[in-house]
Amino acid sequence: MPRKPRWSEKTRLLLTMELAVVLPAAALVLVSVLHLQSLQRSRGVEAAIQRDFDQVLGISEKQMNEKAYELADEVSINFPTAGEACSESLDRILAAHPYVDEVFVWDPKLKLVARTQPHLMRDPAFSEKTADFDHMMIGWMGVDYMDTLKEVATSPLKGERGTAYYFFPDWISRGQKRLYRSAVLFIAKDSQGGKNAVGGFVFDADYLQSQLFPQMLDTILSQQANEEKDSAVMMVRAKSDYTPIASSASWDGGEAERVRDLEGAFSGLTLAIKLHGTTLAAIEQHFMRMSFLTLGIISVLLAGGLILTHRNVSREVALARLKSDFVSNVSHELRTPLALIRLYAETLEMGRLTTPEKYQEYYRIIRKESERLSALINNILDFSRIEAGRKEYDFRETDMRELVCTTLDSYRYQIEQNGFALEERIDEDIPPLRVDREAIARSLVNLINNALKYSQNKKYIRVSIFRQNGSVKLQVKDRGIGIAQTDQQKIFEKFYRAGDPLVHNTKGSGLGLSLVQHIVRAHGGAVGVESVPGEGSTFTIELPLREQMKSQGASAQGA
Ligand code: ADP
Repeated sequence: MPRKPRWSEKTRLLLTMELAVVLPAAALVLVSVLHLQSLQRSRGVEAAIQRDFDQVLGISEKQMNEKAYELADEVSINFPTAGEACSESLDRILAAHPYVDEVFVWDPKLKLVARTQPHLMRDPAFSEKTADFDHMMIGWMGVDYMDTLKEVATSPLKGERGTAYYFFPDWISRGQKRLYRSAVLFIAKDSQGGKNAVGGFVFDADYLQSQLFPQMLDTILSQQANEEKDSAVMMVRAKSDYTPIASSASWDGGEAERVRDLEGAFSGLTLAIKLHGTTLAAIEQHFMRMSFLTLGIISVLLAGGLILTHRNVSREVALARLKSDFVSNVSHELRTPLALIRLYAETLEMGRLTTPEKYQEYYRIIRKESERLSALINNILDFSRIEAGRKEYDFRETDMRELVCTTLDSYRYQIEQNGFALEERIDEDIPPLRVDREAIARSLVNLINNALKYSQNKKYIRVSIFRQNGSVKLQVKDRGIGIAQTDQQKIFEKFYRAGDPLVHNTKGSGLGLSLVQHIVRAHGGAVGVESVPGEGSTFTIELPLREQMKSQGASAQGA
């Protein structure tokens, strides 16, 4: 005995689809969601940009220090030997280097020789500060000279030529404003030609704040420019004060994302970086929102695709089942009339019938069965032509009343023989229509045949033709088993047969109504059904009167 398959074709197909598509897709979506969630928890996007920012700050510090060494090298290279006459050389240095406020040399024997930019001496705030600075130097060097000398000589901060520089910050006030200066010390030649003097200078506060810092910040930002850093802005401030003393051109205020306390040439200052017009948190939020949105859209598309595939698979499986039912139904339908024809023909051949009426009856049965056979074969042939797109219609001006009456005449006997009451309502004012006579007659025959097949107790058929709302309507009404609401659209699909037991006990191919629909559409019309289960059905073919020619041209080719 063959083993019954454990799963139906449909279940197997769906299972394969789910394993092959749904599982990997779902896993992908899940992994992406988890990844995004972990990114969200660890604030990964923010952290990545912060790392970039820290790198920029580090590079900036290095470049600022290098610039300071370069400037200090320019001053120290021509530095005079400590001595009585060195003040003129110091003045020359001041004139040649406008970024220097004050320049000085300390020799333990000669003490301090200091010179200040002449324009600053006219500024009371500066001249006072300069005097203070000199006093501070005198006091400091007087006490700690050896220590200072050692510290300067061993400073790790060195210029291109290896000169060691010792920097210390200095603040001056101008009105409400505090200005930053940086003082530089290096070893200079003493009056004896030894290396026992300490030379030095002070960077000009205005130069640092209005030129050097802003220019350097802009250069650094333009060097670093790429997608995110394009919009980065920087500023320099005092370590303990949040007000910028200098900034890149596009600085727009607000809180800094990352800061770095400067070491080296500009100690006492803090470098800060942030994004222009936005914050890292906002960028992170936007990124997360966009990522989740994209993921959401992908998931919806995926779900949509799956639903479509599911529906297609179901439809294909249902169609396969319908086709196999069709084959068995059709073979059955072919076999029955053939068997009857053979049986009656054999009986006639034997000549054993007694009365002429009997002969007549047998002839009639043979004719009726062969008519049924040719109707079925015509349906199948028509259907295959339509499926292959080869069906052609022969539209001719046709008297519709005459068409209906002739068709009914050839079926009236059969209808009444089956115990049906036939009511005919043929209106007078039916205009001629351009139709394919044979196709419309076949449609009507299909509807009548169905009414005969699907009626049980109340055997009644009404065939009407009338004019309504600019069209001619051809209607077949019965009081048969009716059609469930859910089946009313599906019955026009090929091979579809309703699940009613009577339908299953009745021979049929499931092609009749689908053919009727094809034919009617090719005529630019429509076919519909109104039905109440248990009470009967009314099928209506609607053929439009207006613009019949146009639609026929289009649909006849498409059919
Ligand atoms: P067939 O009659 O060969 O099955 P059709 O395409 O003509 O194929 O009809 C499709 C199905 O529609 C039928 O199987 C039946 O379930 C339903 N049907 C059609 N006409 C009627 C009717 N007059 N009354 C009830 N059910 C009908």
